[in-house]
Amino acid sequence: MASIFSHAIAAGALGTLRYPKKEVFKYFALGIFCATFPDFDVIMFKLGVPYDHPFGHRGFFHSLLFSYLQGLFIVRVFYSELAFATRASMTIGFYFFCCGVSHSVLDAMTNGGKGVAFFAPFDNTRYFLPWRPIEVSPVDVESFFGEWGIRVLQSEFYYVMIPSLLLMFGMYWIGKFTK
Ligand SMILES: [Zn+2]
Repeated sequence: MASIFSHAIAAGALGTLRYPKKEVFKYFALGIFCATFPDFDVIMFKLGVPYDHPFGHRGFFHSLLFSYLQGLFIVRVFYSELAFATRASMTIGFYFFCCGVSHSVLDAMTNGGKGVAFFAPFDNTRYFLPWRPIEVSPVDVESFFGEWGIRVLQSEFYYVMIPSLLLMFGMYWIGKFTK
């Protein structure tokens, strides 16, 4: 995993590309939820599910299908006023889908653990991106508060946080000048 901070900031940055005029907080909060939820699959370790199992850590809950289902669920539950399969519901659902996918892509850019099963449960092959500059984050919280955690935050600062902030400020300025 990358750290929860990076997944959250990436979701926030993606959200600035297009966001609704009302209920903005709800929109971003749910986006951050979608981008961080997949790592709750670490509970599978406790349940005795092996890492490389299709439902293990970085398995199904990090797949494209899960991101799609998660986005669909969020829209149906939190945007129930939007009719099914309309442009409005699909646009907002696409954002939540992208937040889930951003999690998997960032994990696939980390330098440790097993790869991400993007196509689970149909294909359990674990993938990494060819470029893996992000220091892998420890699964247990205790290890994060130490030298390892500092290395993680350092690498994420350069490869996730700075690009995300640039995107946010870029969108802010574009919005300012196109009003
Ligand atoms: Zn993850």
